[in-house]
Amino acid sequence: MRYGFLVKASEDVPVELLEEYEIPAGPVIYRGSEDKTDVARHFVESIVEVARKIESLMKTNIPIIMTEGEEKTHQECTEFYRIRSNPTVVNPKFSSFSSRFKTFKLFPSNTSQNKYTLSECGLKYSGLDDVVECFCCGLILHNWERLDDPWIEHCRFNPRCLYVLLMKGN
Ligand SMILES: [Zn+2]
Repeated sequence: MRYGFLVKASEDVPVELLEEYEIPAGPVIYRGSEDKTDVARHFVESIVEVARKIESLMKTNIPIIMTEGEEKTHQECTEFYRIRSNPTVVNPKFSSFSSRFKTFKLFPSNTSQNKYTLSECGLKYSGLDDVVECFCCGLILHNWERLDDPWIEHCRFNPRCLYVLLMKGN
């Protein structure tokens, strides 16, 4: 057993900074041998060590400049994480779009709503008629009509849903 990893810094992090904090700039490869069998443990330890170094690097006063796109991605990730780890979320297991979308496999095809929009809206299929449930606030919606907009309905019945607030603002 062996492993390898590579720390990839973004382009605006100067190499000298990596050197200063002893963060490996090239690939780290480790091959276990007969007397070093605990490769998995070694891997975890070395990753933790690098993570610690990165953490101390992040605490320097050198500003990290992000482009508008990076800033947005960063914000979305933080918010996604916040939602996932928020204890009030009813069903955190369905916090990703794809996990919700998968539940719609048996969603009746004669309903006016489309699975894509419903999933996007934080809703997962309950398996019964056209009943769907928000992973975040637990709101149950059903009896969909042709002109219903899932975002509007979600917001109308629970304007305080964290997910709705996050995705659509106030
Ligand atoms: Zn909700």
